[in-house]
Amino acid sequence: MTTIKLHNTRTRTKEDFVPIDDANVRMYVCGPTVYDRAHLGNARPVVVFDVLYRLLREVYGSDHVTYVRNFTDVDDKINARAAESGRPIGEITAETTQWFLDDMGALGALEPDHMPRATQYIGQMIAMIETLIEKGHAYAAEGHVLFAVDSWKEKYGKLSGRSVDDMIAGARVEVAPYKRNPMDFVLWKPSSEDLPGWESPWGRGRPGWHIECSAMAHELLGESFDIHGGGNDLMFPHHENEIAQSCCAHPTGDFARFWLHNEMLQVEGKKMSKSLGNFFTVHDLLDQGVPGEVIRFVFLSTHYRKPMDWTEKKAREAETTLRKWRALTAGIEPAARAAPSVIAALADDLNTAGAIAELHRFAAEGDAAGLLTSAQMLGLLTEEMGAWVSDQGDVDLSEHETRLFEARKTAMETKDFSEVDRLKAGYVAAGLEVRMSKAGVELVPGAGFDAAKLEAVE
Ligand code: AMP
Ligand code: ZN
Repeated sequence: MTTIKLHNTRTRTKEDFVPIDDANVRMYVCGPTVYDRAHLGNARPVVVFDVLYRLLREVYGSDHVTYVRNFTDVDDKINARAAESGRPIGEITAETTQWFLDDMGALGALEPDHMPRATQYIGQMIAMIETLIEKGHAYAAEGHVLFAVDSWKEKYGKLSGRSVDDMIAGARVEVAPYKRNPMDFVLWKPSSEDLPGWESPWGRGRPGWHIECSAMAHELLGESFDIHGGGNDLMFPHHENEIAQSCCAHPTGDFARFWLHNEMLQVEGKKMSKSLGNFFTVHDLLDQGVPGEVIRFVFLSTHYRKPMDWTEKKAREAETTLRKWRALTAGIEPAARAAPSVIAALADDLNTAGAIAELHRFAAEGDAAGLLTSAQMLGLLTEEMGAWVSDQGDVDLSEHETRLFEARKTAMETKDFSEVDRLKAGYVAAGLEVRMSKAGVELVPGAGFDAAKLEAVE
């Protein structure tokens, strides 16, 4: 069996991955807060952990992997969105959840086995908070319940490499009066009548953010599981707090053994932000005609632990490559298994760039079946992802090729190349690459190919 190596944030080393139970490999990834469309950065962890999910299924068998990714559907950002729009919270979260699934589906992400909503696990969260209070790791104060970091001081901060004392020294925020230690974080907080709330031993209230992942991971994966993932912006405080809650509530378990964090996405070398005007959602890009498969390809070309720079140039190059590969593999039957070299690249801490280099090699060698099967393992060149090419795949370019060939033949005799130049310019404007040689003419669809524009070439 292939040995997968993964970089574990907890130990800061690349380790051999050995599952607790190879008949049921378990992974939890923090999902979105549902109040708005996912931006392009939000899609990065989805694609990264989708590749890991596919690799685990390949190695351990598709029935032997359990992947959980939550939806945070109780949060102050959601409450604010409801208040400003006048729409009911349930309507906003249901709509946004579906948008997320549609957009991520367009990027070729498989749906996880479980997609728990936080509001469906309030009972489990309350039970876990009660356990933490009983064990002396949490305390109630003024309608709030707080986790007491001093009760776990030696271990708190280990994942992100901070100590409680350093954190306190660095904290400049005003500290709520009910906190015993400035680093104590909220497990439960009171809700006024106009906010979502649930009855609890501490009055009507709602959970803090971190407790949901601990409660849902425990319910669905048990007190020890294999992999926990998310963006590296979640390492502190979110993941640190998840670990504190889970390990204190279930001291016999390990919570997650491997922690994987993806680096952030930037746009044209800059942080993506609304103020810089380079902020866009996945839906915006799809709407502009950038195929989901192209977005996925660009994502996979950078290793997940490196910052990923989204550029228009990369998207154009990806589109050209995918068009070539799709033409090369048209009508080919996939082989039974992905190439060992591609699996080996992925098993080396998800070296997706290395896997893509292998695909380029298969294409260069004309190994269409090898290319197709291995690309499909990466979620590329699948039938579902191919509509953007087949939409335009029906155009017959041979007629245009003959026309240009004939025009050139005439021009050779008359020495008047104006018609050849006119035709070439028209084809280039339609997004075709024009390849002319003595033997003939070839028109190859490139990035931005638009069959409709061929009509303009009279
Ligand atoms: P949020 O909605 O901000 O909680 O983010 C949801 C997920 O998107 C988390 O896993 C974040 O780590 C991830 N994320 C947010 N911004 C970026 C970014 N620019 N690049 C990569 N991942 C991001
Ligand atoms: Zn989480």
